[in-house]
Amino acid sequence: MREWEKNVRKVVPYVPGEQPKNRNIIKLNTNENPYPPSPKVEEALRKMNTDAIRRYPDPAAERLVNAIAAQHGVSPKQVFPGVGSDDVLAMAFLTFFNSEKPVLFPDITYSFYDVWADLFRIPYECMPLNESLEIVKEDYYRENGGVIFPNPNAPTGVLIPLSEVEDIISHNRGVIVMVDEAYIDFGGVSAVSLLDRYENLLIIRTFSKSRSMAGMRIGYAIGSEELIRCLNDVKYSFNSYTMNEAAICLGEAAASDREYFEMTRSKIIQTRERSKKELATLGFVFPDSCANFIFAKHEKVPAKELFEALKKEGIYVRYFAKPRIDNYLRITIGTDEEMDALFDFLRRYLKNR
Ligand SMILES: *Cc1c(COP(=O)(O)O)cnc(C)c1O
Repeated sequence: MREWEKNVRKVVPYVPGEQPKNRNIIKLNTNENPYPPSPKVEEALRKMNTDAIRRYPDPAAERLVNAIAAQHGVSPKQVFPGVGSDDVLAMAFLTFFNSEKPVLFPDITYSFYDVWADLFRIPYECMPLNESLEIVKEDYYRENGGVIFPNPNAPTGVLIPLSEVEDIISHNRGVIVMVDEAYIDFGGVSAVSLLDRYENLLIIRTFSKSRSMAGMRIGYAIGSEELIRCLNDVKYSFNSYTMNEAAICLGEAAASDREYFEMTRSKIIQTRERSKKELATLGFVFPDSCANFIFAKHEKVPAKELFEALKKEGIYVRYFAKPRIDNYLRITIGTDEEMDALFDFLRRYLKNR
């Protein structure tokens, strides 16, 4: 080992889903929205000029923050924007998880949580989901340094009712409880209504899924003014200009188009419900999903085999070679046409195998 290596921060990084260069595939592997962003985004993009990018952007991203606050009926002082919710989550871990006691999150969940915990040297403990892949709320009623879970959970798609989210928060008033609502728009009730009662609640959301803007990198946290102030103090100690001019401008346009948002999200929900029936007919089993993906295993055929056969056919889904979930495929809900191509292939493959 070279001497300088002793002082290197060593991390095992998060592995994002594949982004193949070939555009000619059916891409159901990273939970992107199959529909384009709002036409208002396109209009705003066309109106953008280069003089706007000559200057530094507004460090507080006020226009975007105001639009998000209006959408949720909260004060702009309760909104913290970031470069995708990954940036917001990382900043929140750094800001709020500084106890010697372990932070708690599910064993099967968004696989970035343990990466950030390792990166920032935060102790953590994983609480196993039950056999039905559900979060057991009582597991979180114990001493800890903070709690985080997605609702609906990823990659399972399983939602816990708002009353159980509240139970977890009310048992943890001495620490920060983060609810990652990356998928809440596809089914389920947001915890935003609990903010008035719980100063220790931080909700994290993203424009990447339900707003069709993964490439623009916009996420945000909503919480009490006190928590948002703490996040801003850390952000301004790190990088004042996290939100670029295009993200501020296009994010504002997207947030203000309620109608288009409702239309695309209901289309995805409809396609998901139809997909559940198709998958069940094909011999798949899965926990009931409230997200824009289904986490399914086949009764007879190993997930890895299906993953590879699908990939050869140009249909990309996500496979995790991890304990407890290595026989599942996470299938993003695409357009009806894309899902039909998936079902057609599976029907043929399973019959001729
Ligand atoms: C997709 C996802 C995120 C991150 O989304 P960004 O693109 O960084 O906003 C965060 N949490 C969960 C659970 C996700 O699935």
